[in-house]
Amino acid sequence: MISLVLLGAAGRMGRAVEQAAAGSRDLEIKARVDRGDRLPPAAARGPVEAWSESLESSVAAGDVVVDFSAGPATLSAARVCTARGAALVSGTTGLDPAAEAELRAASARVAVLRAANFSLGVTALRRALAAALDALPGSWDIEIVERHHRGKVDSPSGTALQLARDAAARRGWKAEALRFGREGKTGPRPAAEIGVHAVRGGTWVGDHSVLVSGDGEWVELRHVACDRQSFAQGALAAARFVATAPPGFYTMDDVVNPAGR
Ligand code: NAD
Repeated sequence: MISLVLLGAAGRMGRAVEQAAAGSRDLEIKARVDRGDRLPPAAARGPVEAWSESLESSVAAGDVVVDFSAGPATLSAARVCTARGAALVSGTTGLDPAAEAELRAASARVAVLRAANFSLGVTALRRALAAALDALPGSWDIEIVERHHRGKVDSPSGTALQLARDAAARRGWKAEALRFGREGKTGPRPAAEIGVHAVRGGTWVGDHSVLVSGDGEWVELRHVACDRQSFAQGALAAARFVATAPPGFYTMDDVVNPAGR
């Protein structure tokens, strides 16, 4: 049995992971951690539900922490997992460099899997994008448009950033090639540029389009998540993977048909 600790358990993704894990034969949720003001009142909890505002007191050696929270919590999760010998699956986006560095440092001691998007479809989309860029002339323009619900706090999405960085690396361009939105007299579009555009509204779960445009034609690669279960099921597959993996830094490419990458 794999013992999970959910960090950000009261949030949209925490609840989706809880739902996905329900009834599973090989996973049990040992503890749910969130900020004090987000914990459900004791009377509203089920008989076996363990809630806490302290990750440190909830994690033991061999557990897998599944993190969908916010930057400072992810940073301390990396430290707690290192100290306790627990594996970490982190899906929190919009992390600052310090938190990203702490995850990398933790991976020297424990298994850490990081993904801006756990859906199987986005893993396939990233591979399809690499194949499309290899097949098309380098002069074709790349633009990324993402849409998310009104409650999302970081823009552009971690997935859009990942896709843009993938495309830049494929073309041999540096991070400066990314351009976040356009306004005013911007002049003609430079060739070595990847536009990234964030749309916010309603209840969109996650929608990413990559447009690769030539003269008189374009290719559009698009992934639409209609339900958070697509992310939650991927996060659980990642949890099963890290539960037995040696220390190291992993991505969904290690989980989803690694031979097909
Ligand atoms: P949310 O706001 O609904 O939930 C976040 C939860 O984390 C909240 O309950 C909040 O109280 C909790 N939290 C924040 N700081 C905390 C702290 N210091 N200690 C304990 N708990 C803390 O957000 P969400 O929609 O569930 O998304 C969470 C994160 O996951 C975001 O960064 C989002 O972009 C990302 N996300 C990733 C994927 C993926 O596939 N990787 C998919 C969806 C969302």
